[in-house]
Amino acid sequence: MPDLTAPLAPGARIGILGSGQLGRMTALAAARLGYRCHAYGPEEDAPANQVCDAATVAAYDDTAALTRFAGAVDVVTFEFENIPLATVELLEKLVPLRPGANVLAICQHRQREKDFCNSHSVPTTAYRPAHDDASLREAVAAIGTPCILKSAELGYDGKGQVRIDDGSDLEAAWAAMRGHAAQAIGVIEALVAFRMEISVIVARGADGALQSYLPVENRHRNHILDETIVPAELPAAVAERAEAIARQLAQAMQLVGLLAVEMFVTHDDQVLVNEMAPRPHNSGHWSIDACETSQFEQFVRAVAGVPLGSTERLCDAVMKNLLGDEVDTWPTILADPGSKLHLYGKASARPGRKMGHVTRLIRRQI
Ligand code: AMP
Repeated sequence: MPDLTAPLAPGARIGILGSGQLGRMTALAAARLGYRCHAYGPEEDAPANQVCDAATVAAYDDTAALTRFAGAVDVVTFEFENIPLATVELLEKLVPLRPGANVLAICQHRQREKDFCNSHSVPTTAYRPAHDDASLREAVAAIGTPCILKSAELGYDGKGQVRIDDGSDLEAAWAAMRGHAAQAIGVIEALVAFRMEISVIVARGADGALQSYLPVENRHRNHILDETIVPAELPAAVAERAEAIARQLAQAMQLVGLLAVEMFVTHDDQVLVNEMAPRPHNSGHWSIDACETSQFEQFVRAVAGVPLGSTERLCDAVMKNLLGDEVDTWPTILADPGSKLHLYGKASARPGRKMGHVTRLIRRQI
């Protein structure tokens, strides 16, 4: 498998699988460092394509297009984890891939993700696999109600998730979960009565250096991230534990790139991993305006094999997603000097669609 032997020089080409807003903000950060980005995804006029040096509009299983893409770039990364594993495995044979296919294999499958955490003594919610009717019944009996049935793959923003209570119709729950995923692999998870949802983003460089951002609080609406509060108001020991978990997991995967770890903090201060994403994360968008080095620049630095930057925060902040027609408030946001507006170039504002975000900077008197 090819890997980079030297740091990428300015002018080199970074291929990004996925052409959404995460690819867009990655390409903007890469351009500042002198790199050219090439987006690959199935959508015309996608957010990343609008700001990349080159774009391939093709399906993830188009072998000829993937081979041409590999030949046109110096390194490949990905901006979301629902890329078929076969796609990255094919690319990995042709061009350096950061992070590697092994990382994607863990993070795109909820059971493998939880197995990985537990095999490294990192606590998660209690869980059991469910492959069919009989194992679903067994899993619900073992975990108890209330619990959540989640599809092991292809779920995001609460899609493919069904709550199960005492007396719930398990057949209907299974059918509802399958509605979001072609394959019937599920995971039953205990419902956690958490005090706070947090995340930690950690970067790991090609030289093994680790740099983490401090834990932030994530507030969801209808299972979609609504606001990120920086920093999360937590006892110092809990914040340190959360950061240590993220660093440990990135190290254990030998990941080169970014790892975002979403966690629940319980009322008795346990920190339980919910899920991981090996890429920039919505809960790190605040870092563009309020950190020495944004998560996107840090991602580019790791993928390019150059030294990581400082993750120090310059001020506190609140990031709010602009979902659906909330984007129409853009003129008011622009009129507020403490607010930083980011729009993703998406044409239609469907309900719940991430159209942009705004970061409100909370500056202290200097
Ligand atoms: P996920 O796709 O796993 O991130 O789930 C989306 C959201 O659903 C989370 O951010 C939580 O608000 C909620 N959720 C997911 N799993 C659990 C759980 N085991 N217990 C309580 N709430 C959960």
